[in-house]
Amino acid sequence: MRRAIGLAILAVAASSCARGGREHLGRQGPGSAGPEVRVWLRQVAAPFDLSVEGPAEIVVEGEGAATQFEESPTGRVTFAQERVAWGTRGPFRGRVRIRSTQGGTIRINSVEYPGTIELRPDAGRVINGVPMERYLAGVLFAEMFSDWPDATLRAQTIASRTFALYRLKRREQAEGGGSYDVDDSDRSQVYRPDRILPKAWRIVGETAGLVLTFRGQLFETFFHSTCGGHTAPADQVFAYPPFSALGGVACPYCGDAPHATWRNVIHETLIRKALDRRTREAGIALGRIESIEPVRREAGALYADYIRIVHERGSFEIKAEVLRAALNGVAQDPLKSVAIDEVRRTSSDDTFTFIGRGWGHGLGLCQYGAREMARRGHSYLEILSHYYPGATLARAW
Ligand SMILES: [Zn+2]
Repeated sequence: MRRAIGLAILAVAASSCARGGREHLGRQGPGSAGPEVRVWLRQVAAPFDLSVEGPAEIVVEGEGAATQFEESPTGRVTFAQERVAWGTRGPFRGRVRIRSTQGGTIRINSVEYPGTIELRPDAGRVINGVPMERYLAGVLFAEMFSDWPDATLRAQTIASRTFALYRLKRREQAEGGGSYDVDDSDRSQVYRPDRILPKAWRIVGETAGLVLTFRGQLFETFFHSTCGGHTAPADQVFAYPPFSALGGVACPYCGDAPHATWRNVIHETLIRKALDRRTREAGIALGRIESIEPVRREAGALYADYIRIVHERGSFEIKAEVLRAALNGVAQDPLKSVAIDEVRRTSSDDTFTFIGRGWGHGLGLCQYGAREMARRGHSYLEILSHYYPGATLARAW
């Protein structure tokens, strides 16, 4: 089973996420910052400048003892031919792990990262090893606005902690061990340690160690900006087995969100470009596109499962999320979701107008809905209970 991972360190459930339940704010424990999360800094592109605050240590895999630096070392990092160099050091073929020996930060260009930085010459990756609670402080205001209600921010933090811990446990259990748990982009959750505000430390501290479980197991607590009226069933979007905590719920809360409804006008040539590789692989000779229709699993469902493309030589269907991802690779103004109501063709200029609702994959917590729930007086437990039905709050540390 891919989505549920045992977590032996879990203490007893702290509280049930029942609607109407009291808020049990986590006591800030005796300073546990949680396990180290490994974050692939996908948004950091080499070459870049790297400097360490204070005395530092560098360990190169396969080269024995660490090298110590008394002063703050600095240099430009470059990757070439599966080797990495840091200023005049290297090039190294093995992984390079850098840390400040007195707890200082590591600066990459203008951003300071806590914890360690690992340079992986094999994959050209930069990985930040950071204690979970510090990581979450760097996620909160990269994912949400700082003036949103506390209950919403707490719900987001618990979802983010659970998501990262689930990925961490999955890596630890993976054969051979993966190299990272999450990345710093919206493919996982956005991480920007330079956007930490004092309020982030407070919210993270108030929920320290709290995670969500379903039947005693961590699960992948997805979240998104705006669902458009109903969150999406995970088995529809990501080909999960049906899973009730991610089964999709009505959301009467995000109607005022900026992207509650949207329309995108996309020229046929861009749609053809997005479909090009897949139609060639499938042996489809794509003719002029005559119509585009959302295909739903159930009548009245918000999200389209497939999109039917009718062209002058025939028709075919493509998974809606696959088309969205492909279009987002070519169109400047991307499709915000697959909650597509209809697609209209304008023959005078060969464009298609997609009309839809919401922003994101639609799974799990709807951020704008969670904001509105808090404004109406709901607690963070009620918010989590609504978007992850059946989930239970538990303490991981
Ligand atoms: Zn919503």
